[in-house]
Amino acid sequence: MKEDCMADYKIDTLLAQAGIHSDERTGALVSPIHLSTTYQHPEFGQSTGFDYTRTKNPTRVNVEKTLAAIEKADYALVTSSGMAALVLLFGTFPVGSQIVAVRDLYGGSFRWFNEQEARGRFQFTYADSEETLLNQITAATDYVFIETPTNPLMVEFDIARVAEVAHAHGAKLIVDNTFYSPIYQNPLPLGADVVLHSATKYLSGHNDVLAGALMTNDKDLYDRLFYDHNTTGSTLSPFDAYLLMRGLKTLALRMERSSKNARKIVAFLRQSRAVREVYYTGKGGMVSVKLVDEASIPRILNQLRVFTFAESLGGVESLITYPATQTHADIPAAIRHSYGLTDDLLRLSIGIEDGDDLIADLRQALEGAHGSI
Ligand SMILES: *Cc1c(COP(=O)(O)O)cnc(C)c1O
Repeated sequence: MKEDCMADYKIDTLLAQAGIHSDERTGALVSPIHLSTTYQHPEFGQSTGFDYTRTKNPTRVNVEKTLAAIEKADYALVTSSGMAALVLLFGTFPVGSQIVAVRDLYGGSFRWFNEQEARGRFQFTYADSEETLLNQITAATDYVFIETPTNPLMVEFDIARVAEVAHAHGAKLIVDNTFYSPIYQNPLPLGADVVLHSATKYLSGHNDVLAGALMTNDKDLYDRLFYDHNTTGSTLSPFDAYLLMRGLKTLALRMERSSKNARKIVAFLRQSRAVREVYYTGKGGMVSVKLVDEASIPRILNQLRVFTFAESLGGVESLITYPATQTHADIPAAIRHSYGLTDDLLRLSIGIEDGDDLIADLRQALEGAHGSI
């Protein structure tokens, strides 16, 4: 598709055609991987628009155009990881900024927030529910940071409502949209000011790229982010930018299959006697469960054959994570337990395998641990 009409197309089209027709000289269908770190100047005082790859790289620009289009954003920047995107964004916030954040957060985000607070850079207030969050936003609040659905308890927040309250108090809203991806949610049109992604997860989708992204419609913020991105070098490599573009092409299909599998698996888990509670919003591939018998967790994890016991999510392969010792280990147990992230919880990232194979795998592992179900 021609770039100037990207806004006219639906997300499936934008994804399938990510990065194509970008090389006018050769007509290459697929975006080339531009490994060159530097670019020849046509003449003294002239530039092709590309000078040095930390500043701007054609492969990176191609994936950024697609990412901006699928999040309905004017601007996107890709970074070397999701955490690099978070740090880049927060680097633009004045020292002393007050931030209201959802409590049930990615463990790595919480770890960094805590460290920044300990160093006296920012102040955080955490909320366990949407009502609490809305009540905590005051005239002193500078930024509101949410993940929706939350991680791993899968609570959805109303982005439009949070944005309205944040804006009424002069605060900006940042949404980490890693879990739903733009397939299920576009936070910017709902009023968010910035969208953040760990593109390592659904956007790339194959557990082989570490990447992050920021999207916004705010030109001043983008300019500042672009400046800092170039200055500090938290950029995505051209090869990884290519892999991310490659992964994006199938995002819609992968999401559709993950969600279909997840719904079937949730129906199975809800009637399993080994399971005390199932957390699922009805869409996407992320499911959490609390087990009747916490002591059975090591055995279940060892017995699974199709699910892999590993951190991370959003890939074609199904993974199972034990947040208490993995993704959320840096959140002190007392804090984790206070909001429901207890040690009997397992988080499942449902992949695109055959749903019946996944159910059979869970059945044998849970049955082995808890008799017949
Ligand atoms: C993984 C993850 C991050 C961090 O991203 P990395 O790419 O691992 O640095 C941030 N937010 C959420 C919701 C995540 O799942």
